[in-house]
Amino acid sequence: MTIDVAAIGALDRASVLHPFTQLKDFASGKLGAPTIVETGKGIRIQDATGRSYIDGFAGLYCVNIGYGRTEVAEAISRQAHRLAYYHSYAAHTTDELAILSDRLVRMAPGQMSKVFYGMSGSDANETQAKLVWYYNNLRGQPRKKKIISRLRGYHGCSVVSGSMTGMSFYHDHMDLPFPGILHTGAPHHYWGAQAGETEIEFSKRLADELEGLILSEGPETVGAFIGEPVLGTGGITPPPEGYWHEIQLVLRKYDVLLIADEVITGFGRVGTPFGSHLYGIEPDLITVAKGLTSGYFPLSAAIVGEKVYKVLEDGADRVGAFSHGYTYSGHPIGAAAANAVLDIVEREDLAGKARDVGGYFQDRLKAAFAQLPIVGEVRGVGMLGALEFVADRAAKTRFDAGLKVGARISKAARDRGLIARAMPHGDILGFAPPLVTTKDEIDEIVGIAEQAVRQVMDELAREKVKLA
Ligand SMILES: *Cc1c(COP(=O)(O)O)cnc(C)c1O
Repeated sequence: MTIDVAAIGALDRASVLHPFTQLKDFASGKLGAPTIVETGKGIRIQDATGRSYIDGFAGLYCVNIGYGRTEVAEAISRQAHRLAYYHSYAAHTTDELAILSDRLVRMAPGQMSKVFYGMSGSDANETQAKLVWYYNNLRGQPRKKKIISRLRGYHGCSVVSGSMTGMSFYHDHMDLPFPGILHTGAPHHYWGAQAGETEIEFSKRLADELEGLILSEGPETVGAFIGEPVLGTGGITPPPEGYWHEIQLVLRKYDVLLIADEVITGFGRVGTPFGSHLYGIEPDLITVAKGLTSGYFPLSAAIVGEKVYKVLEDGADRVGAFSHGYTYSGHPIGAAAANAVLDIVEREDLAGKARDVGGYFQDRLKAAFAQLPIVGEVRGVGMLGALEFVADRAAKTRFDAGLKVGARISKAARDRGLIARAMPHGDILGFAPPLVTTKDEIDEIVGIAEQAVRQVMDELAREKVKLA
């Protein structure tokens, strides 16, 4: 089928409300025509004009197995022909769902017990909040309900998950955050540390800050802490040394549940099966989405640990059925897609690949960018990487936001056929390539990114922007 690019573009402009798009600039045409993405294979996508791009961001950190994996398409088709839909209410199930759930409980870190399904990371975190509230009601602790997340954390954009997200532009003009969702300091040593402070000292100070917040709110009012093992949308930032150890000491002291939001880090991206494995995190609740199906079907899950589940089961005689569920909870096509994706993740050892190729990726990023005058920090872990651009490396000053340095570099890369994302919190270029990316393809990605950064660096020099 050939696509009529102009006609489809006009239909889109007339009728699609696009996420994270300046509506007026899109409507007026200032942003140009929409990109009609038509096909994908391996680490590349192609648009309807025939242009091909390396997807250095795996869609939105989700297409871990790469595009065009026919065995997943076949699993989806098989399930759709057999049984396209049934619900999982009142003890109904499918073979794919039962098998997937057993698999997730066994793969996940910590002492996990049961899996509750949704369609997105946002709705799974909404479920986590309700589980925390329900758990503490059943335990006779009706005030222990507040949830603490971090500034620059990302947990979704629905009402409670969007409140957990610690970036103001997800709250502004949308009447968030919702009461009872609090924020503590961001674990980013580069921007957050005091002069001379080591990573371990910084981690201890963040743990002290968390403890101070819990004490000032009253520990009897704080139910849970939610965090991504590695900050994702807030800037792709691995935690400083000792961070998770220190934070968990505080949480245990005050009987505060730990929700590990593994939506990005789950299923191999950081070089271990889950981010919790890498950082010694022992979560009570785990959120997964993105990599669970590699984006081939919308599916998310709240994985519930033994400790929480036991209270839910013990309370059932008093409160009756667990009154939470979506029409599409445990969708059989989603479960079939996830099983087919996890078969690939296991068979091709994508976590091991992410460790090996990811190590090479981190080395290549450092070699290409660490010395450039506009690069303040090169960071990452496994198949997550980021470059933070600054006007002055010694004084650590940011570029004037109006220069849009991050966005310009991202555009320059895109013009050269590489998708690398301008992260919203600062001048940051983020990478999260598919986990099947080879070392040769890493060379290609880093090579194009380097040309893009040098191009914008030259432009800034011509514009007489002062660089230190
Ligand atoms: C993407 C993301 C979410 C939200 O998932 P959606 O499917 O977009 O709702 C939640 N947490 C983290 C860490 C994410 O990266």
